[in-house]
Formats: sequence, C-alpha cells, structure tokens
Amino acid sequence: MNTLYQDMEARLALLEAEGNLRSLPRLEHHGRYVNTPGSKPMLNLSSNDYLGLAARTDWWQDFIDNVQPEALLPTSSSSRLLTGNFPVCEELEEELAALLGCEATLLLGCGYHANTGILPAVADKSTLILADKLVHASLIDGIRLSDARCIRYRHNDLAQLERLLAQHHGMYSRIIVVTESIFSMDGDEADLPRLVALKKQYDNVMLYVDEAHAFGVRGRRGMGCAEEQGCIPDIDLLVGTFGKAAASAGAFVACKQIVRRYLVNHMRPFIFTTALPPVNVAWTLHVVRRLPHLQEERRHLATLGGLLRQGLRQAELQCPGSSHIAPLIVGESTEAVKLAAHLQRQGFYALPVRPPTVPPGTARIRFSLTAALKAEEVESLLHNVRLYFNKALPTPCLCNGKAMDSQYI
Ligand code: PMP
Repeated sequence: MNTLYQDMEARLALLEAEGNLRSLPRLEHHGRYVNTPGSKPMLNLSSNDYLGLAARTDWWQDFIDNVQPEALLPTSSSSRLLTGNFPVCEELEEELAALLGCEATLLLGCGYHANTGILPAVADKSTLILADKLVHASLIDGIRLSDARCIRYRHNDLAQLERLLAQHHGMYSRIIVVTESIFSMDGDEADLPRLVALKKQYDNVMLYVDEAHAFGVRGRRGMGCAEEQGCIPDIDLLVGTFGKAAASAGAFVACKQIVRRYLVNHMRPFIFTTALPPVNVAWTLHVVRRLPHLQEERRHLATLGGLLRQGLRQAELQCPGSSHIAPLIVGESTEAVKLAAHLQRQGFYALPVRPPTVPPGTARIRFSLTAALKAEEVESLLHNVRLYFNKALPTPCLCNGKAMDSQYI
C-alpha cells in the first residue's frame, strides 16, 4: 500500500481492535422506526428528536400550506453580511428574543458553529475560561481556537469552580464560565441559579450556557433549563440549537444587543459562511412559534425519563442523570457494542457511545428518549435490558417476556 496512508491504516486498525471504530450506518427511516438493509424495523432510541416533531407529517403539511412562496427558497446564496440576510432570519430572531425575554438573539448555522465561533470571538489573551470537564466537543474546539487560557473544573463541582474564581478573578480582564445545562452524554444537569450566584460575586465574570439538549424540552414555553430555573437574563451567552427538539437545523445565541453587534463583526463562523436557507429558517420559525404549546409532550417526556432511569437503577445498573437522556454505563467499549447489537436484535435502535466521546472505561448505551414513545415501550426496553443482564423481574412485565413486535407498538 502507498506509504502515504500507512499510518491511517494503522490507526484505524487500532481503533477497531479497541472496539472504537466508527462507520456510517445505512438507515431507512419510517417515522419512529429505523431499519438497516434487511433488518426488521427498530424503535429509534438514538435520535435527538426529543419532542417527536420530526415525524409529524401534519406539521409539515401545515407548513407547506401556509408558507409564503418566497420563504421556500432553498438557498441563501451568501453570507448574511452580503446578500443572505432574508427577512425571515430577523423574524425568527425577534420571535426567539420575545419568547426568551432577552435583548437580542443571533441566528447561526448550527450548534457546532456557535460553540466554535463565540468563544474565539469574545475571549482573548487576557481571558480565562473555566469549563466543566464534560462540556461538548464543539465547546472544547471553541476553547482551543481561542487565545484564552482554560482550566477545566470537575464535572458540576461548583465548590471547585468557586475556589478557581476566587483565586483567578483579579488576574484576568474577563473570566468566562462555560457549561451545558443538560449534559449530552450523562443526561445530568448544571445548577444554573448557583452558577449565576457565583458569577455575580465578581464584575468580570460571564456565564456561557449551551442548552442544545434542553431547548424545546424544558421550561413553560420550551425555552430550556434557564427558563425553567428563571435565570435567562443572568446568562451572558445562551446557546440553543434547532437540530434536536425543534426538528430543524441551525442554532442561536441569546445575548445583549452589544454582544450581538460584536459577534456580527468578530465571529468567524458567522461571517465567513453561507447563511441558512430561507426555507429552513421559515420551518424553524414555524416550529418555534408552536413550542410554547407543547407542555403535554414535555411532561410525558419527563415521565418516560423517570421510568427508564428508575427501572435501570432498580436492576442495579448504572444510569446517572435526571433528564430524557438516560445513559446506561457498561464500562468497556466491546461490552457496549455487544449490548447495542443485542437490543437492536430485539427491535430497539440504541447505539453505543465510546471513547473518545466519553472517558475511557465509561462506554455506554445512550438512550435518547422522545415524547413519541409510549410508557409500554420503555417497559419493554427495560425488560430486555434486565434479561440481558440476567436481572429479569420475577413477575411478568407488560411485554410478557418478549420484545414487543414493532408492528404493534
Ligand atoms: N452542543 C451540544 C451540547 C451538542 O450535543 C451538540 C451536538 N450534538 C452541539 C452543540 C452541536 O449542535 P449542532 O448539531 O447544531 O451542530
């Protein structure tokens, strides 16, 4: 083989030996189900469609029936700073600002753009970033791209964060505390009011919260954990994404007007990229306007999360967190791959999450619940997990010891 590629071959072989090789699955989608070529339909437990909106054909129909023809444009053809700033972008920004009750929002290409662009724009050499140990890869990349020094504090260890703030606040012109609200891989939550209280002890501390997994899912109007915990005005940079519960694509940052103007002038993944297509923005606006009315879906999703987590813990399995993301931690990657394959055979499309996405020794199945699931389906999943670990309950469960046939779900 060409020597140019030998090192790649060797690294891929190593990943394979460790059970960490990634490849793209070939999937067919049928509403709540997916299947691989030749497989039976599997209930999708791996998508981030938390409110079950992606499969709502009635919503698409309503959108198509009511959208203005000019908003159907499939491309913006340039950056928003050139000719890509369509009225619908500003309409969505205004709608979001009104729902969040904040000064301004800025629409961005995706959450990855948001997190890799905002930090390098606002943090310079005289900035210190204090980031939770478990923040998402996109935030880590943003930190790396910035000129700031960074210290990672232990996951959700706000006592350590308090000490770090006390120790360093006088040495930097600005400190930015970076966290997620619901953590993507552990499904647990940051204590936002406590973070706000810590930040308020000093006048040079900003708070950056990534609500990717909470936007749409939490809060009376679906605006996230910050809405739920009453602290939107105290968060300097609040990022939400549309590719998860909002069943669309794109992201936004909620901030003060001055910060928005600053980002428009300094944020490279905002400036140097083609704006989202108007049709995509119009669909997002369609969904965002309806988010406040999905209280029942949010309540149901929370119930399902509690049911699954409680069932796994009762079987003495390790499932941290408190949200609709329920990770079943199994340890080694090979074990996670085996369990995922088993669940797939039983009709549940659950996927293993392995290092480097999660720390070594904490490979897991990440159950990503959606409001489109039924409690019986979660019970059936639990039964299959318990059987796999030889921890079946002595009493028959709802599914009579068999995975429910997908056709009857
Ligand atoms: N933030 C978090 C916490 C995420 O989990 C993700 C992606 N899963 C992103 C940001 C990136 O968002 P997007 O998919 O819109 O790029």
